[in-house]
Amino acid sequence: MKEELAHLPQLAKDKHKENKKYFAKLRKKPPKNLDHVMRELHDEVFSEVDCLECANCCKTTGPLFTDADIERIARHLKLKPRQFTDRYLRMDEDQDYVLQSVPCAFLGADNYCLIYDVRPKACREYPHTDRKKFHQITDITLKNTAICPAAFRVVEAMKKRLG
Ligand code: SF4
Ligand code: SF4
Repeated sequence: MKEELAHLPQLAKDKHKENKKYFAKLRKKPPKNLDHVMRELHDEVFSEVDCLECANCCKTTGPLFTDADIERIARHLKLKPRQFTDRYLRMDEDQDYVLQSVPCAFLGADNYCLIYDVRPKACREYPHTDRKKFHQITDITLKNTAICPAAFRVVEAMKKRLG
């Protein structure tokens, strides 16, 4: 995994043009069975990828925090929502709450999430490769192929499966 992560940005860069073209076609004419295929590919890839050996998403990007996330996590930490945002979050240029810094403050040394049961929705869903209507999130997926080895593998597999 370490080696895969080291090479991932270059691999994603090498595939960028090809993937961009592929996704443009996919958006124009998504196959009818896309949801089903993506669910299968996602499950296949994640049966081989151990996120605890990686944690690259938690180390390099971090999620958006919704109001519901903030309330839930603050309650768990016995903080007021305002205390939680002051301590851990900042508002980005799109007026969304994001982490003040990465790696995420809640990432343990063993790559376990210290707030796993109450983690943000975006963390639970990352890298979104099993999302319905996958063709609607191809821009973010293109970015994720440089961060997430699983997302990279899913995209390579989908090109083979769907042609
Ligand atoms: S979701 Fe992707 S980037 Fe995050 S830990 Fe798992 S494989 Fe790594
Ligand atoms: S909250 Fe947990 S899962 Fe989300 S980025 Fe932080 S450590 Fe990772």
